[in-house]
Amino acid sequence: MKVVKFGGSSLASGNSVDKALSIINADPERRVVVVSAPGKRTEDDIKVTDLMITYAYMSLRSNNYQDIATRIFKRYELIAQYFELPEAELEDIKQLLLTLPKLSYPNNDYRMATFKAHGERLNAILIAKILNHQGIKARFLEPKDVGLIVTGTSNNAEVNPETYVNLKRIKAAKDEKIIFPGFYGITPSGHIATFSRGGSDITGAILARGLNADLYENFTDVDAIFSANPHIVDQPKPIKRMTYQEMRELSYAGFSVFHDEALIPAIQGEIPVNVKNTNAPEKPGTMIVPEDGFIPKHTITGIAGGKNFAALYLRKYMLNKGAGFTLKLMEILQKHHVSYEHMPSGIDDITIIFKKDVLTDQLIDVICNEIQTSLNPDQMQWIDDYAITMVVGEGMKDKLTLCASLLYPLGKKNISIQMINQGASQISIMIGTRRQDEEVVIKTIYDNFIAQDKI
Ligand code: ASP
Repeated sequence: MKVVKFGGSSLASGNSVDKALSIINADPERRVVVVSAPGKRTEDDIKVTDLMITYAYMSLRSNNYQDIATRIFKRYELIAQYFELPEAELEDIKQLLLTLPKLSYPNNDYRMATFKAHGERLNAILIAKILNHQGIKARFLEPKDVGLIVTGTSNNAEVNPETYVNLKRIKAAKDEKIIFPGFYGITPSGHIATFSRGGSDITGAILARGLNADLYENFTDVDAIFSANPHIVDQPKPIKRMTYQEMRELSYAGFSVFHDEALIPAIQGEIPVNVKNTNAPEKPGTMIVPEDGFIPKHTITGIAGGKNFAALYLRKYMLNKGAGFTLKLMEILQKHHVSYEHMPSGIDDITIIFKKDVLTDQLIDVICNEIQTSLNPDQMQWIDDYAITMVVGEGMKDKLTLCASLLYPLGKKNISIQMINQGASQISIMIGTRRQDEEVVIKTIYDNFIAQDKI
């Protein structure tokens, strides 16, 4: 049995839903279908999830939210009309949408989560109806029906392990398609909470693990996961096969095709993931598989870059001899609920690298003040323009001269390396640079390795 998930761009219009339905119907093993909310139809279109967010805000401020609700409903109506679904079939979808402002919520965060989740919820209801209308047996099921329980915060939830016990109870007839909304779960007290943005991938992986699927197919709008960002490298090579660990490292630093949190359930259940294109389903896409028995074909599988980093550089003479400096530093960060990404250190200095979105300017000032008062460093510098490039490949293990061959061409291009970090697994090397150098770093490494298919 296969779990298939369609992203928002694959379900943005009647025409794209039609392609998705052909894919579902082409393989009887595709029995569980996870759907996103309708995405963008054109570059300047707005995703239904973003419209839902506006709807939530507008309905909080005044009673003047009819226009936005109508605009959202229109998105579903257009899809329904494409399939000539009778208008009466849409009545429950309309009512669910219009009732959202009138429901009671524990607080505004839950309220926001419920509005957001309805992008996928209404889409799953609609797609089940369309399939039935076409004479295909399909059933809408959602988190509260199957016990997909989440904890954490209402807009950044995490799956609760109890879910996997509950999912075992799902009974699906062989000739029936289950249409399941992505992106949200149900809290222990019965409210809707969503995963982080792009989280329908996570739902697909949870179902694939819970139902012990043979394969999790993730349909999106690209032919495969590319070995580098196509906006930086011209026509980068697609990655045919890679391990979970490689994918995790790459998605961490910027590969956004597949949600990095979605890999965890797949890894736990050892479910292979196939990222494919809804517009070209005959293409093999990218297979993401367990490490066991994986034989790498190249040294470097992919290069990812993230510009969204900042760093705090601290220098204190004899730092290596003093006890407790790092502990105090961590306590300050913990007090402000700030997580950090990396912490390379030297004998007299330490750099803490953050993802920028965990910080505001005000928080940076507060944290720096506290560090100054309690740790009194000799030098403290906030580096705002930090980029991280991740070079990833199972084939990098035990390649003795790899670091030299990676860095030498960068030196020749006058790129100053702020940090280099290779973990014990040896499958990734992280290179910290100034933000303006990042694209050159990616292009240079791509040209020297992946383009030449160096083994
Ligand atoms: N619709 C949600 C979002 O836009 C979740 C998803 O598409 O995966 O973030």
